[in-house]
Amino acid sequence: MGTILPELSTVYSEYVLLPRKKAKDCIPDTVDISAPLKRFIFDGKRPWNEQSSFRLNTPFMVAAMQATSDHEMGIATAREGCITTINCSRSIESEAEAIEKTKRSRGGFVVPQVLNPEMPIPEVAKLSQQTGYDRFPVTEDGKPNGRVVGLLTTDFYDEHTHASLRVKDRMITNDTTSSWQYETLSRHIALDDDIGDDLSKANTFMREESRTRMLILVDRTGNLRRAVFMKDVNEHNKHRKTELVDNQKQYKVAAAVNTRDFEERVPAIVEAGADLLVIDASQGHDEWQEEALKWIRKKYADIPVISGNYVTPEGFDFAVANGAHAVKIGIGPGSICTTRERLRLGLGQATAVKIIADRRDQYFKATGIYVPIIADGGIVNLSDITIAFALGADAVMMGRFFAGYHESPTGLETIDVEAKQGGNFPMLAKPYWGEGSERAKRWRTGRYDQNEISEGIEGYVPYKGMLNDNLPKDIRELKIAMARGGYASIRDLQEHAKLARQTEGSMREGSPHDIFRIK
Ligand code: IMP
Repeated sequence: MGTILPELSTVYSEYVLLPRKKAKDCIPDTVDISAPLKRFIFDGKRPWNEQSSFRLNTPFMVAAMQATSDHEMGIATAREGCITTINCSRSIESEAEAIEKTKRSRGGFVVPQVLNPEMPIPEVAKLSQQTGYDRFPVTEDGKPNGRVVGLLTTDFYDEHTHASLRVKDRMITNDTTSSWQYETLSRHIALDDDIGDDLSKANTFMREESRTRMLILVDRTGNLRRAVFMKDVNEHNKHRKTELVDNQKQYKVAAAVNTRDFEERVPAIVEAGADLLVIDASQGHDEWQEEALKWIRKKYADIPVISGNYVTPEGFDFAVANGAHAVKIGIGPGSICTTRERLRLGLGQATAVKIIADRRDQYFKATGIYVPIIADGGIVNLSDITIAFALGADAVMMGRFFAGYHESPTGLETIDVEAKQGGNFPMLAKPYWGEGSERAKRWRTGRYDQNEISEGIEGYVPYKGMLNDNLPKDIRELKIAMARGGYASIRDLQEHAKLARQTEGSMREGSPHDIFRIK
């Protein structure tokens, strides 16, 4: 006979958070929402938020999905202190490319896309269109660290008029004898050692001396090292306090790995610059995961690995015993997920987070080792995020939430939506589909590959505009909710939160009721 757990299978919306005595300085501006993503031994000396060597400034991860993850999402989320997980249901080359592109466009300093002098102009036009870049350093051999011999910007060629020409015919050089060259290459170049890691120095140099929109930084022999774009400096200045960057000031990005081709995939994505690996399995408690986790930990001892997904304390023990740096929770809560409906496998996400957090806390007490947990899927409202932390999560992973932003890799569409009061109305939307859906199945490798049945659906989410314009408002709302309840940090919530299970009556009472609404 099977065992029945004493806990019911519950979801976030069934809980309310009780307030506690609030300090005067517990205000949204001071609320700390940074989150550890790598396990640590608590030293008892430094504050909680300095213990882990890998932290998010904002505790959100973008789900590893075709409909959410690419370099544009990687860049936009890193600016806000979150991290994107590039999906592995794409080729190894494509995943590595998305990682490289995210890293390349780091907070201010960039390893720029370069051109070869022999490249035909139509190819440059195509590259510019694909990448959105409008200026390129030209190196002698076309290599990223080659000797800089020119600069080509879209102002200096016309795709049609110059169709038969090559880069070398239209690039800016130090030779000012040709009639169209009114400026010299040297104006756009500075010594990398003179600038160092000081972005404000690069900024001043560009504004006051070179008056250029891109500064090419070279070593003493004239070989390209990196570049600074004025637009990146502006973005960097706006996000200076929150952005998530590595030691080289490049944006951090996570990469998903499946449990089948990891031996080929991991070397390529680590080489491309992945800062964090996320083992992507819908049910992680199996021998494939064990093999993958052990292999990665042995070959890549320094790179943090998140193992998932689990809904049981035994799953947590298994992941930790095999070397996981953090553990991801959730089977069946995703907005596009049919796993629980079809296979009746999984657990309500609130209960899953709670029972694994309990096991994590016991482990912490016994060993002094704290293992962060990430609650993956099922976030419907911002208030669900506060509940996830109160139940013990350190960070949340979300798909639906991010799929509607401009930066997700899908196209914008207008769809007809049924109005409550009858009839239809047009809505700007973006497609969103599960990694186990028929749509994803056509080109996936890994997460759900052994299934003949689909475990996900396809649909749409409302368009939410540009991430960097809108996510800060949500982050602010999260901080307001925490401060109002008297919780100064995620750790504070984890340690001191009191929650109550809600009845249906309480849920109804918790929304406006029994009046005629104006809006
Ligand atoms: P959401 O934030 O509620 O949309 O959930 C996103 C999460 O759902 C992802 O991070 C995955 O863990 C999970 N997921 C993605 N695709 C599928 C699927 O096709 N079936 C079941 N779960 C999925």
